[in-house]
Order: sequence, then C-alpha cells, then structure tokens
Amino acid sequence: MAKVLCVLYDDPVDGYPTDYARDGLPVLERYPDGQTLPTPTATDFTPGALLGSVSGELGLRAFLEAQGHELVVTSDKDGTDSEFDRHLADAEVVISQPFWPAYLTAERIAKAPNLKLALTAGIGSDHVDLEAAISNGITVAEVTYCNSISVAEHVVMMILSLVRNYLPSHEWVRRGGWNIADCVSRSYDLEGMDVGTVAAGRIGLAVLRRLAPFDVRLHYTDRHRLPAEVERELGLTFHASTEDMVPHCDVVTINAPLHPETMNLFDERLLATMRRGAYLINTARGLIVDRDAVVRALESGRLAGYAGDVWYPQPAPPDHPWRAMPHHGMTPHISGSTLSAQARYAAGTREILEAHFAGTPIRDEYLIVDAGKLAGTGAHSYST
Ligand code: NDP
Repeated sequence: MAKVLCVLYDDPVDGYPTDYARDGLPVLERYPDGQTLPTPTATDFTPGALLGSVSGELGLRAFLEAQGHELVVTSDKDGTDSEFDRHLADAEVVISQPFWPAYLTAERIAKAPNLKLALTAGIGSDHVDLEAAISNGITVAEVTYCNSISVAEHVVMMILSLVRNYLPSHEWVRRGGWNIADCVSRSYDLEGMDVGTVAAGRIGLAVLRRLAPFDVRLHYTDRHRLPAEVERELGLTFHASTEDMVPHCDVVTINAPLHPETMNLFDERLLATMRRGAYLINTARGLIVDRDAVVRALESGRLAGYAGDVWYPQPAPPDHPWRAMPHHGMTPHISGSTLSAQARYAAGTREILEAHFAGTPIRDEYLIVDAGKLAGTGAHSYST
C-alpha cells in the first residue's frame, strides 16, 4: 500500500470554515476547447467547500484509506527537517499545489527512492525539477485547464485595477477620505490601449477573448501561432517574439509556463524597451521576471503598475521588495485557487490517482513527464 504525501496551504487563521458566502457552484460541462472536466468515479466533497487547505485534504482521505493507502497532509514543507522531508523518504505519490509549492528539487528526489508520481493539484509543475523527474522515471501530472479560466478572470481584474487606479482609490475610502483628485491623477481608460499577451495558450487566449469587447488593440506572441480565423475574429496582431511585441504595448500580461526559455525573460534590458507608463501583469510565475528590475522600473516610471499573484519563493518572506514597491497590485498566489477551481482540481487529482493506482493511462493532456521524457501537455508547452 502506498504513502501519499500531500502538501497544502494552512487553514484560515480563524479556523476551517463552517459555512460559505454562497450555496454551491455553477455546474460546468466542458472547458472552452471541448476538453471534459475531471471524470473521477466519485468524489467525497461538497463543491464550493475549502479543499485546498490542510483540513480540506482535497477531499481525498476516504477514497485513499478505503483502498488501504496512507494519506499524510501537511503544510510544513520548507527547510531540511520539514514534515514533508521526513515523509518523502517512503512516499510513492507527492501532491502539491503551485500556490504553496513543495519544491521537489533534484536533491529531494534523490532522497525519495519510492517516488513514482508528482501530482500538481493545479497547473504549472515548475516546482518539480523536471530533468530529475525524467532521469528518475517519475511521472509528473497536473490538472490541465482546471483553473485556466480562474486565472484569466484574475488577469482582467488586475489590468482594470491598475489602469483605473482602483486599489489606491479604495484605500482612500477606507481611510475616510473623498480625495477625488488623488484617486484620478493616475486613472485612465483601457479603451484604445494596446494589450499584449506573452503566450496564447489556455489562459492567454481566454484573456484575449475577455478583453476583446473592451475595444482595445490585441497583440500576442507564442511558439505556435493561433488559427487564422481566431486571429481574424479577435483582431490579433502576432509578434514573432516577446522582444518584438512589448514595445508596441501599453499593457503586457504574461501567461507562459516557467521553463528555461522563459526564466528571467523580463530582465532590465527587456523592461527598458517597454513604453513609458506600461502596465505589467504576471500571474504565470515569479521567476519569469527579474525581481529587482521590476522594482526599479516602477520607481523610474518605466512601469506605471505591476500586478500578479506569483512570487519566488512562495510563501514570499515578509521583507520581499514587491510588498513595498510603488504602484503594485500584488496578491498572494490565489488566482487559480478560487473555491470554483478547487472543486475542479480536487476532482482531477482524484481522477489521476485512480488511474495511477489502477495502472490505467493518465489522460494525455494531464501529463508533463512520463516514461522518462516530456509527455502530453509537457511535450507541447515545456522545454528542458
Ligand atoms: P497552456 O499550456 O495552455 O499555455 C501555455 C502557453 O505558453 C502555450 O501556448 C505555450 O506555447 C506557450 N509558451 C511556452 N513557452 C513560451 C515562450 N517561450 N514564449 C511564448 N509562449 C510560450 O497553459 P495555461 O495557459 O493553462 O497556463 C500557463 C501558465 O500559467 C502555467 O504554466 C502556470 O505557470 C501559470 N498558471 C498560474 C496560475 C495561478 O494561479 N497564478 C494557475 C494556472 C496556471 P506552445 O504550447 O504553443 O508551444
């Protein structure tokens, strides 16, 4: 019987919720490209409940224990003497969410001889050393599409928040003020601006579709070009590279995975080519941008605003410079962990576990690494 080691974020500081703001969730049948939602044989949770924190256990305990497996759930993941490290030695499956990533480095993988499956309850498996997974025969899988639309909504929210100067204006209200001039002296309309996405995959394309009705000029760059009819429908301008695209944009949103091609892509040099007063939104991964160069670009006015929810490392330390930099709209890593998304990725996690324990194939679209090489979605979107 297997040990399943599941790393989740902490429960709310006020304790695990006993009731919720809304009753239930809308029922979705399919994702926008026709892919079906997760299809486990059953689930043991109420959609809309908090599943991603320790007490939520992704709704997995009854299912795993009924099969005789051991489930260990912890939020203690960092340092060499963490609970995660102690259980890793004999774990067969590690489950982790990108919001609270259990970094599966090559060193940790070397200490996990039984590890067969690294499962990302979410999207983005860059917290796993994919080279080490490949050379150790570990399957890496994620719940593709589970929270892509959740993130796309967050991106649109953050673009509007920055351009309209929403957060500082809200702060004036909380402080008892009515300081209209203070609020509007950094507030613009999005209409007519040039907005570009780095990558037009599931999230990037969903952002483009959601922004089209705002009468903006849309741009994108990607390794694979979108079908001509999509480009026509949305009025897209394609650019061969990020470097080609960013000088033409007032707003840039990053929606590519973190891999060697995108690591530190937005460095000092690239940021210097952006329009003065551009806005940069990064909900992809913190390491795609140069942390300190972003701070300097905000201080100099090259960037008028920066927002996103991804940092490095996670959790970000209290003195991380992005907490205090000017004109930012950062949140903790939350965009892909709405209660809506949690129901989908908890079900997808169970679907993948059912396949793993039954010895049946995991859906190709969920695979990042399998049988010693990049596979499925991983073969399409990642590089080693
Ligand atoms: P997809 O796999 O659908 O899309 C990724 C896209 O990135 C693909 O179109 C891929 O191109 C493209 N791409 C890869 N490398 C480059 C590059 N060097 N330059 C330009 N484009 C590139 O994934 P999603 O859209 O669902 O998710 C994207 C990323 O967003 C995830 O990998 C993850 O890091 C992040 N994410 C963040 C979340 C959050 O909560 N903040 C939640 C979910 C995801 P192609 O395949 O055409 O080669």
